[in-house]
Formats: sequence, structure tokens, C-alpha cells
Amino acid sequence: MTETPAYGFDTLQIHAGARPDPATGARQTPIYQTTAYVFRDADHAAALFNLQEVGYIYSRLTNPTVAVLQERIATLEGGAGAVCCSSGHAAQIMALFPLMAPGCNIVASTRAYGGTLTQFTQTFKRFGWSATFVDFDDLDAVAAAIDDNTRAIFCESIANPGGYVTDIRAIADVADAAQLPLIVDNTSATPYLCRPFEQGAALVVHSTTKYLTGNGTVTGGCVVDSGTFDWSATDKFPSLSQPEPAYHGLKFHETFGSLAFTFHGIAVGLRDLGMTMNPQGAHYTLMGIETLSLRMQRHVENAEKIAAWLEADARVDYVTYAGLESSPYYGRAQACYPKGAGGLFTFAVKGGYDACVKLVNSLDIFSHVANLGDARSLIIHSASTTHRQLTPEQQEAAGAGPNVVRVSIGIETADDLIHDLDQALAQACP
Ligand SMILES: *Cc1c(COP(=O)(O)O)cnc(C)c1O
Repeated sequence: MTETPAYGFDTLQIHAGARPDPATGARQTPIYQTTAYVFRDADHAAALFNLQEVGYIYSRLTNPTVAVLQERIATLEGGAGAVCCSSGHAAQIMALFPLMAPGCNIVASTRAYGGTLTQFTQTFKRFGWSATFVDFDDLDAVAAAIDDNTRAIFCESIANPGGYVTDIRAIADVADAAQLPLIVDNTSATPYLCRPFEQGAALVVHSTTKYLTGNGTVTGGCVVDSGTFDWSATDKFPSLSQPEPAYHGLKFHETFGSLAFTFHGIAVGLRDLGMTMNPQGAHYTLMGIETLSLRMQRHVENAEKIAAWLEADARVDYVTYAGLESSPYYGRAQACYPKGAGGLFTFAVKGGYDACVKLVNSLDIFSHVANLGDARSLIIHSASTTHRQLTPEQQEAAGAGPNVVRVSIGIETADDLIHDLDQALAQACP
């Protein structure tokens, strides 16, 4: 199918990037379970290795099943290209790898997935990178944190563990003024609720593990490029603007234009880092993504009902969901995320840490797991799990204090979920 901007999201989530298999006519995208591809002849092989011709060489770099998913996600985000990889955390490294060098830093939001905070504070050091964390509601502080060695600005759209939504346009303006790319982790919002490129982001990263797959079966990640950032405007991005020795001095930006970042991601990133998505994994995600909009509508509808019910319950101290009128981010969510504030939020249980532990142990439908974005409802006590590596100050800043649980509301019957929470709260707060 040829993509045109005229097709709606619901059409593109099923068709973008795919066509009947040219060899067999198979309607569904086949799983190309192969590591290598036969060259037509020696000249063909040489042209592929020189990046003079686009084609399949080896599945660490490219695979036809994975390529369909890449084009599907790029289309849904409105980007120029995308590179899939083995996990969301791999996607973050893949996004930063072409931009960073020892001594370089990023400016990142304090409100982020716990694993991201750990990756940025701990593992970054091994590469000689660093991250400066700032409150992204304070635009002056974001601007002030940028220095000569900053190479990117990083935030989540709807931030994990929930209740916070970023004003992407405002942050993109700060990034633009500093001639830096804004990278948005769009995992929790998905392109159905938020399209960061329309608000000025340069790159988007995803954990496809979550809503894009939507059924808790595989880990995967994706880096999407808007194709609009000018990598040659400053001397800060030599991997993209300067000659690449491993490809006979080819300059990615000059040669590939709006596809420079995507080609670099495949030809250097996947080639050397090897964080490849496998075709089986891509298949599961392609199955899931076909129903993304339908699921997101139900996630939002259920989250709104359940958040309102919890807020009115005497056993609950407060609920942080940007879809509630009581939220300080309600107005921003209405303006920037008009289809809904997502399916993730946190709530504080009277009785603190112990009551939270009892609550997660007493639920029947909700599963106590370290995941989100599944069709099934999930709950986690962040302070004792995903955020336990962090200091108490970092836990509070990330909205993951000891009295707080995070829920990822599934697409089950809302009344059943409310009943389950009701009976578990009765046990947690006798
Ligand atoms: C899960 C998650 C990640 C990490 O993704 P993995 O696929 O688990 O590596 C990054 N960011 C956000 C917002 C996530 O929810």
C-alpha cells in the first residue's frame, strides 16, 4: 500500500509499511526467519556494503519483517524513518550513540521511568557521558542546564510513573534556541495520544514492549527520526556531519539528507552495537499495533473512570492522573493531549508503605508486575521495586514515594477493576 497523509491513523496502523508478500502473495507480513540474504553477484554485494544501494545483507542490520514494523512506526509518528532494536533501553542508547562522545551530556527531565534514571546516572558514566536532571516545568532551569557539551534534551511525553504530562512545544523551543535535538520517549502516550514531531521534537524513542505490542509478549524498542533536524548546522554532531572512516569518508547527513539518522542507526548503530530486534519479536509487535487506537481509547476511558472512583474513596489520599480536574496538569493535558492523558497513574494509600504492600498482595485481576501498557491491568509499588535503586529524594521527584502505587489500567471491564480495587483496599486499610 502506498502511504499518503490522507489515510487515517486507524488505516495506517494496519497497512503502513506492508504489502502482500511479493514471493507468495501472503496477506499477513511473513516472519522472515533468516540471518542472511543471497547477493545477486559480487557487484551487488559491493554496492550494498558501500551503502550505494539499499538492500538486505544480514539480519543484525536489516530484516524484511522488522523493516515493515520500522516503516509502520515511522508513519504513525509522522517521521522520516525508524530503527527498531531489542528493547526500549537499547533505543535510548541507539538514539544517543550518534550524538554523544566522552565528556558530553544531556539535559533530562526528573520525571522519568526508573530504569531510565538509572541508565542515565549509572551506565552513562561508563561511556564518559552524563545527564543533568531538571524540573521540565521550569523552562529557565532547562535552558540554564545546557552547556557547550550538551548534545540533546530528553523527556517523556506522558511521564512514567504517571500523572505528569510534558509541554513538548515549550521544551522544543528551548532545544531549538540551543540548536539541540529534543528526544521524546513516547512510550506511555503512543503516537495515538501524542505525536511529538508535530510539537517540535527531533527524535522519538519507544519501548515497543508496552502499548505498541500491547499484550506483554516481547521486549523491543524503536528510534524514530523526524528527518528535520539540521545535523550540519553546528560542529556538535560529527558522526552525522563529518566523513565516516568505516564507509570511505561518506558523510551521512550530506549523502542521506532526512534519512541520515536512520541510515546511521542501521549502518553504524546496529552494525557495531548489535542491539537488534529479531523478526519473531517484530511479528508480535505488528500483531499488536493493528489495534493500537482501539486499545488506547479503552485504556483512557477505563483510567478516567477508575481514577475518579479512587479519588472519591476515603482510603485513598490522592490520585495523580492528568485526566482528573484536580490535577495541576489537567489544563495542559486537555491542550496538548486532547485524546486523553493515557492509562497510567499513581495513587497514595492511607497507611503508607505497609498498606501498599497489602494492597498489591490482595488484588485478583490486577497483576503485581514490573511492566505497563499491557491489555491486562497491572500494579506496582515503585518504591520497593522499579525505583528502589534511587535515593528517597529521587523517588519523590519521580512521583514514586513509599505510600504510592502505580497502576497501568488495562482494557478489561471497568466495573470489574473497580470491584477488585475496592476489595483489596478493604484488606489493606481495615
Ligand atoms: C519500559 C520503559 C522503558 C524501557 O523499555 P524496555 O523495553 O523495558 O527496555 C523506557 N521508557 C519508558 C517510559 C518505559 O515505560
